[in-house]
Amino acid sequence: MSKRDIVVEPNPILRKKSQSLEKVDNDLRKLMDDMLETMYSAPGIGLAAVQVGILKRLIVIDLSKDGEKKNPLFLVNPELTFKSKKTSIHEEGCLSLPGHFAEVERPAECHLNYIDYNGKEKKLKADGLLSTCIQHEVDHLNGILFIDYLSKLKRDMIIKKLKKNNKEKNKIIL
Ligand code: ZN
Repeated sequence: MSKRDIVVEPNPILRKKSQSLEKVDNDLRKLMDDMLETMYSAPGIGLAAVQVGILKRLIVIDLSKDGEKKNPLFLVNPELTFKSKKTSIHEEGCLSLPGHFAEVERPAECHLNYIDYNGKEKKLKADGLLSTCIQHEVDHLNGILFIDYLSKLKRDMIIKKLKKNNKEKNKIIL
């Protein structure tokens, strides 16, 4: 396994739609393992392939807490088949928007069809944090970021700050 670089906003790739995968093979499993390692070391609880610069419909999630047994979930070609009318609010952050958090209202429950690490078709019913996490990550596959649910003013402010941070990161001292 090896760690990959995480793409940070503003970057146009984060606004592109990811493409479906044809099959689950060892190359794809290698990417899934790399994404998991990248997510664990960030640390984060969810990561979409686009966040490591690959426009494929692939997500890794692990909601296990510190000290608990790891419980990774690999979602290939995830497809939401149901979103509840009932909503819930979580404070969300994103590895591509480091240091920024905001409350986002989403459907409380969702149902999902996906293909797993072994290439098997699966179904999943999610609520609570898992439901929010899945919807946040599926949004990434469609070029949507959580800041898109905020007012334009708030969104522009966050992007401005991130731009400034990125510039400072590129400074070199000789
Ligand atoms: Zn994110």
